[in-house]
Amino acid sequence: MALRNIVLQGDACLSKVCRPVTEFNSRLHQLLDDMRETLIEANGAGLAAPQVGVLRRVCLVLDEENDDFVELINPEIIDQQGEQTGLEGCLSIPGQYAIVTRPNRVRVRAQDRNGKTFELEREGLTARAFCHETEHLDGHLFVEHTDHILTDEELQAYIEQEEE
Ligand code: ZN
Repeated sequence: MALRNIVLQGDACLSKVCRPVTEFNSRLHQLLDDMRETLIEANGAGLAAPQVGVLRRVCLVLDEENDDFVELINPEIIDQQGEQTGLEGCLSIPGQYAIVTRPNRVRVRAQDRNGKTFELEREGLTARAFCHETEHLDGHLFVEHTDHILTDEELQAYIEQEEE
């Protein structure tokens, strides 16, 4: 395994529509292993392949229910319910956070690293991460959902309020 470099906002990789994965081979497994290591090192909740410069429909999301990362290949959000509004950030936009509204509950269909199709339904932060990461695969960033990046004071106030 190896750490991969996370590209930052402004890099062309982050605005491209990624291609589906068709071969579930050792190269894909290496990418997934590297992404997992990179994500752990960066202390993030999710990472999409274009963030490490690979334009394929691959992402990892922290699944709070299992306290582990779930690998999603060619993921699609097939159902969504409700609404949640909360803090969101991105490893490709370090230091910037915004309040973003997302569906509260999301059902995702994806393939695993061997090509087997599965579905997962999650709510809260994991649902938020599913939305955030699948958007990366279509070249979109969370900042497109807001016109206001929190100031340091606003961020601090939000965190303190959440801790109460
Ligand atoms: Zn992101």
